[in-house]
Order: sequence, then C-alpha cells, then structure tokens
Amino acid sequence: MEGSRGNLYFFNTLTRKKERFVPLEKGKVKMYTCGPTVYDYAHIGNFRAFVFEDLLRRWLKYRGFRVVQVMNITDVDDKTIRASRKKGVSLKEYTEYYTKAFFEDIAALNIEKAEFYPRATEHIPEMVALIKKLLEKGYAYRGEDGSIYYAISKFKDYGKLSKIRVEELKPGARVKVDEYGKEEAWDFALWKAWDEDDGDVFWETELGKGRPGWHIECSAMAMKYLGETLDIHCGGVDNMFPHHENEIAQSEAATGKRFVNYWLHNEHLLVEGKRMAKRFGNYYTLRDLIKMGYDPTAVRYLLMSTHYRQQLNFTFEGLEAAKGAVERLRNFVRRLLDADGKGSGGKVEVLVEQVKRGFEEAMDDDLNISVALAALFDFVRDVNRLMDENAVSREEAEEVYGLMMRFDKVLGVIGEVRREERLPKEAEELIRRREEARRAKDWETADRIRAQLRSMGIIVEDTPEGVKWRFEKQ
Ligand code: AMP
Ligand code: ZN
Repeated sequence: MEGSRGNLYFFNTLTRKKERFVPLEKGKVKMYTCGPTVYDYAHIGNFRAFVFEDLLRRWLKYRGFRVVQVMNITDVDDKTIRASRKKGVSLKEYTEYYTKAFFEDIAALNIEKAEFYPRATEHIPEMVALIKKLLEKGYAYRGEDGSIYYAISKFKDYGKLSKIRVEELKPGARVKVDEYGKEEAWDFALWKAWDEDDGDVFWETELGKGRPGWHIECSAMAMKYLGETLDIHCGGVDNMFPHHENEIAQSEAATGKRFVNYWLHNEHLLVEGKRMAKRFGNYYTLRDLIKMGYDPTAVRYLLMSTHYRQQLNFTFEGLEAAKGAVERLRNFVRRLLDADGKGSGGKVEVLVEQVKRGFEEAMDDDLNISVALAALFDFVRDVNRLMDENAVSREEAEEVYGLMMRFDKVLGVIGEVRREERLPKEAEELIRRREEARRAKDWETADRIRAQLRSMGIIVEDTPEGVKWRFEKQ
C-alpha cells in the first residue's frame, strides 16, 4: 500500500464542506459516475468530467484502495430517441455506433476502464422493480397520461443536494421531459407512457407500455452493481439538479437508507465564458482536435491540470501549453534513461522526498492537482539542473525514473518512453560540454556545439529551467 489512507479529503457537495474520506468498507471504494448519453460524439466538456473521475479513481488506487466503478451508458432517453428517429435507424443501431465511439475516445484519453458499463436498455426489469416499490410506498403515482411520476412533496429531504427550496415548488405540477431547470422543479417522470414520438421504442411491462425516465436509470443501475449505499457519486455540476437530486429522492425513498456518502461535482469547461454544450454549438469533440493535429494526451493534460472545482476556459493557447508540459515530462524521463553521472551527494534523495510529500499532500487535499503539478515541475527543473552538471548517478536516475512512473500511474500522460528517443551518449556529452562553455561565457564554442547537435537532429534550447533538448522531427 502506498502512503496512508487516513488523510484523504474531498469536498462533499451534500455538506458543502471538505470531509475526511472514510469508505463504507475498509480498503474498498464503491463509486458511481454518470456516463454519456450516446446520441452523438461526446465533446471535450463531457471529457472534463470523465478525466476528472479517472484522476479520482487513479488517486484512490495510488492510496491503496480497491475501486469498483460503475459508469452507465444512457442508451434510451429523450435525446437518443429523437436523434435515432431523425436519422431513420433503430435506437439500438444508432446508440451502438456512439457507444463504440465513446470507448475509442476514452481509450485515446488514457482513461482507465471502469469495472462495469451497464446499458440502460439492458436494465429495464430493475427499473420497473424500483418504480413498483415507489408506487407501493406511496412516493409515486400515475398521471392522467398513463405515465408514472415521483411525488417530490412526499420526500422530506427533497432539495438537500442542490439546496433548492421546495416550498417554492408548485405542488402536483408535472414534467415529463428528462431535463428541466430549477425554476421548474416539479414531479418528474419515472415511467413514460408510450406516445407517438417514441416510435418503436417501448417496453411492455407491468407498468404498461412505455419506457423509463432518465433519472431512474441511474438509481437502478447504481444500486444493482454497488448496493443501496455508495461511497462516491460523481458528475458535472449541471447534473446536480435535477438529475442527482432525483436519484437521491428515488433511491432513498425506496430503501430508507442513505444513497451516497460523498457527492463530487466537477465544474464546467467553458468557451469564452460560456459552458461548452451541444445546444450552444460552442463545442469541440476529441476527434475535432485530433484532426487538427493535437495529441489526445495534451487534451487529457489540459482537462486534468485545473482543479476540478474550478471552471476552465478552453483556448488553443492552453492546449499548446498542455502539449508543452507533457513534452517536458517526457523529455525529462528520456534524459533519465541516459544519466550516468558522478552522483549528487544526497541531493537527489532530498528532492525525491520533497516532491513525494508535496505531490501526495496536494492530491490528498481534494485532488489539488495544480499544487501537485507545481511540485512535480519544480522537481523536474531541479533534477534537470543536476543532470546538466552530470551530477546524477545511474542509481539516482533509476530511482527518479521509478518515481516518475508511479506519478504517471496517476497522471497518465508520460506513458512508454521509446528507446529510440533516448538521447545518444555522444549527444549527452556534447550538451555537457556546451554547458561548460556557457558557464565560461565561451559563446563561440557553445554555438558550435549547438550546431553540431543540430546536425545530429537534436535541438537544444536554454530555458529558465535549464537546458532542454528535443529531436528535430518531433
Ligand atoms: P451527458 O452525456 O450530457 O449526460 O454528460 C456527461 C457528463 O459530462 C456529465 O457528468 C455532465 O455533467 C458533464 N458535462 C457536460 N457538459 C460539461 C462541460 N461543459 N464541462 C464539464 N462537464 C460537463
Ligand atoms: Zn446519472
């Protein structure tokens, strides 16, 4: 087990406070993350949520927890039905295409696979059973249109997550669509009686001919795979109301138990100050960015490197900076592979301890990634300086390399460093000699060596963090 498990803190939306994380079962975390609605390619705003959840999962694992993560695939709801009918293909054919695309995208972003990816259409019996329970307990009723609604006035805790004021709601007013705003917090549909707009999408069940509402999907699938109480539930802030509020109402009314102990919500990715969303037309898919020549790892870095509770404005300058940061990390690791110096006299050891503490303490504090990355880049700069002086021994470099690989299990951006991209011994020696020349202010020699390296296809740059090099073709 890495480090201690005792000091992990998360900001819990339910209490609006940072709380110490204590799982239900020692050493194990049951985590539910609302997945994609597969009616189109996900945009990079959606991926901000999925990358944040991946970082959380990876940090929990770093801290020695066994994680059981469930991410649902919403393959039946208002949007998927509308889109498949417009295209004139079956719901299944339509959603399969975008489900496959989603899995390709998360693989490209190096998002670890969850343990379960339940599809809503494959869990209709579980949803029907849950709705029946709510009917029996008096939390649900049938409307005149044949649909079944949740009576929010019956659930005393309605509003506890989003802090919506229930007194302001219109009693008995109903909403059949899945998505609606706070000002319209009404009784919502659990089961939607078939109507013409649904075409051939319906299930004949004990509840009648129809289909489930979006909110019941998540309650039913979360409880099926994780039990009645979960440790962590995540999603973007837009999902807090009505989706998560409704999930709580459905699940807790049915079981009489607390549904989720820690609610974690990520803030939005914005474009020019406005939330990135399909309906605003201000979005990029991952595929758009790949077509423009960007490496998905740079996108991952960009989405991950701002704290998840802060809004993040998407810009191409930001994406370029992210690309540069990933390159810096990769070049550093590459350079370590060839370091074979005289030894730092204990300096590396001190730096290793320092960065471990800095990185871990920051991540334990509600995944404070910006502080963790700052500690990491200080470390990279300091060890690079020691390597410039040929002061890092083989053993020290190996230790640093091992640490970088451990950090990368969390960050997921360095990956395999290719052997052929290692700096040749001869070039390492030239860089060292150039450094000596520069220190002696012998600019002529320094420039000559730079040209010599260039003829070997190696570009050398002097930066405030020390000398950096890269292969020309990159
Ligand atoms: P959806 O496919 O619409 O259900 O969304 C999938 C996830 O992406 C949910 O957790 C949303 O809250 C989240 N999400 C949607 N738009 C954004 C955005 N612009 N920034 C961050 N997260 C978002
Ligand atoms: Zn959900």
